[in-house]
Amino acid sequence: MRVYNAERRVLVTGGAGFLGSHLCERLLNAGHQVLCVDNFFTGSKRNIEHLLDHRHFELMRHDVTFPLYVEVDQIYNLACPASPVHYQHDPVQTTKTSVHGAINMLGLAKRLRARILQASTSEVYGDPDVHPQPEGYWGRVNPIGIRSCYDEGKRCAETLFFDYHRQHRLDIRVARIFNTYGPRMHPNDGRVVSNFIVQALRGDPITIYGEGTQTRSFCYVDDLVAGLNRFMDAEPGFTGPLNIGNPGEFTIRELAERVIRLTGSGSKLVFEPLPSDDPMQRQPDISLIRDKLGWQPNVQLEEGLKKTIAYFDQLLTETARNA
Ligand code: NAD
Ligand code: UDP
Ligand code: UDP
Repeated sequence: MRVYNAERRVLVTGGAGFLGSHLCERLLNAGHQVLCVDNFFTGSKRNIEHLLDHRHFELMRHDVTFPLYVEVDQIYNLACPASPVHYQHDPVQTTKTSVHGAINMLGLAKRLRARILQASTSEVYGDPDVHPQPEGYWGRVNPIGIRSCYDEGKRCAETLFFDYHRQHRLDIRVARIFNTYGPRMHPNDGRVVSNFIVQALRGDPITIYGEGTQTRSFCYVDDLVAGLNRFMDAEPGFTGPLNIGNPGEFTIRELAERVIRLTGSGSKLVFEPLPSDDPMQRQPDISLIRDKLGWQPNVQLEEGLKKTIAYFDQLLTETARNA
């Protein structure tokens, strides 16, 4: 596929979050101008502190549920809390962020005739009865459960993207991101990789929800961001939806044991109740992105965990020193 690489003005919503901050950095390194828009609900200035002095970087505090009038060439719409702990904290706001946020960013893209990418999620497949999950699978999602604000919000955002595409000929990209981890996850983020690493480094018990037999497939952040970027810059008309993730599948118990081994921690495993609607299995079918874009993940779990452990180790040491 042909790839376009000229310098652009790029808007990244949710740019101060975990994935967004890595994406902003990658875009700046590629010579683009970046406008980072974030309301700091789960993101932080710390994530983008090192970019603030870059002459092509601009930060704007703004909530995407309100209209936004700026001038850009491309939009990556990442704004939305991603950890169940955070998206369930204010579920109405979560749905508003996905749905009103998508409408506003699509309205902006329509006025500017800008290409727009949506950070969708493997959660649109719910608790899947097809395994691994290809893009053609419609999912098995509870519309009224505690995860629905996120799952259904993201599903509705996908609907809006495809309706703007059909109705207004908008140039869209819908990326379905599978569990991603790496440096700059928040230590209190609540997702499994950061929880286990922080617990192991502190010598606290490792909290396994359920029996730990549920599976996830973990993608290292650098691979993920490279995939998003390649998708955005692929030739016109390639809308997706497109799975991006690492097909390496592990039980949560395996993940815990691996983190304990790699940290050399003496932490014990403790078992807590499985939250409702927690999917039992998840693994991306990445044939489409492999075939169309030649993308595949390069960083396997062992190596990615080592880098993430090194990040949290340094962060916890700094926090202890400053306390
Ligand atoms: P994150 O919580 O670190 O980042 C989300 C960012 O969006 C934060 O900086 C937050 O402050 C900002 N935000 C939230 N609501 C906002 C609003 N109303 N207006 C403006 N900014 C707002 O999460 P992340 O892991 O970086 O996820 C980024 C995107 O990728 C999300 O859309 C998420 O749904 C999607 N995603 C992530 C994963 C993953 O494993 N990390 C998996 C699937 C999908
Ligand atoms: N919008 C925005 N920035 C723009 C243009 C539109 O935030 O530059 C918002 C605006 O609030 C609008 C939404 O996007 O409600 C959808 O825009 P669209 O043009 O699709 O719908 P309309 O304005 O006709 O309701
Ligand atoms: N999980 C766990 N202990 C934790 C945090 C999460 O066992 O401290 C489990 C959780 O129940 C789920 C899996 O790990 O089965 C992945 O959870 P996460 O919140 O990271 O992502 P998601 O459920 O959205 O895939």
